[in-house]
Amino acid sequence: MKLPGFAYFEGKIVPYSEARVGVLTHALNYGTAVFAGLRGFWNAEKSTLFIFRPLDHFRRFIQSSRLLCMDLGHTPESLLEATMQLLREEGYREDIYIRPLAYKADEGIGVRLHNLRDAVSICALPFEPYVPNDTNAHVTVSSWRRVDDNAIPARGKITGSYVGSSIIKTDAHHSGFDEALVLNQDGHVSEGSAENVFMVRDGVLITPPVTDDILEGITRRSVIQLAREEFGLQVVERSIDRTELYICDELFLTGTAAQITIVTRIDHRPIGNGMMGPVASRLRPFYDDVLRGRNPKYAHWNVIV
Ligand code: PMP
Repeated sequence: MKLPGFAYFEGKIVPYSEARVGVLTHALNYGTAVFAGLRGFWNAEKSTLFIFRPLDHFRRFIQSSRLLCMDLGHTPESLLEATMQLLREEGYREDIYIRPLAYKADEGIGVRLHNLRDAVSICALPFEPYVPNDTNAHVTVSSWRRVDDNAIPARGKITGSYVGSSIIKTDAHHSGFDEALVLNQDGHVSEGSAENVFMVRDGVLITPPVTDDILEGITRRSVIQLAREEFGLQVVERSIDRTELYICDELFLTGTAAQITIVTRIDHRPIGNGMMGPVASRLRPFYDDVLRGRNPKYAHWNVIV
């Protein structure tokens, strides 16, 4: 993986090699950091880099930080401005991934959230696909469970809880699957390691509600709106049983990194006819055009660098 040239660190843009923390940093020892993941899409015809819904991402970032009692001294707008400064310095002319991080920066011992300094960094690097097999993924239902809202809230993008995501992803990988879905503590389908999940049953698009221990995905929100407004689909947010995944007509994952990743097999069972279904076939290219600034109706979702 190619490292970035620069980072936003301690309030200014510095060479990436200078954006360093000590091994005693609280966040490194206790998982007390929150992050965001944004994408920049290079549109070659327009010679333009578009960032997708950055203010929505930064709003969620600040909400996540509040769950860890952080005061970042930033607004979504000031975080976007810092990102813009960074991207102007980097000068990327390709698809990129942007990683803001807010972390408990003190170096020392002590499990707590209070009386600690909060710091923000932002890096951007060339994008590498998250689920390589993104039109034909084979997914498993993990034997692990999703963190509960009353343990570590999944609606916050908290670094410590990504241990759970890492476990399900690696176990899936070792068993030959592309990705895993995880059930919450009461046995309903929650989400993937870094994606929300949608299924189609009898023409209705169904996704777990935000109360089923999911991250409130920005791709999820966008897909719900597009499905309703552009394709006239009925979209229902309700709990999903594991076995519904085995009998549904279509299944796909959504996320900033995964975009719309099509699942065609789950636990060795084909989904529908084992190929990308009609709903996903329409949504996927439409969404890609939106991301790359090719659809003027959704131009307000893209910020030009
Ligand atoms: N769930 C989890 C656990 C994630 O890490 C992500 C990626 N941010 C998502 C869902 C999808 O969220 P978004 O569409 O905002 O990227």
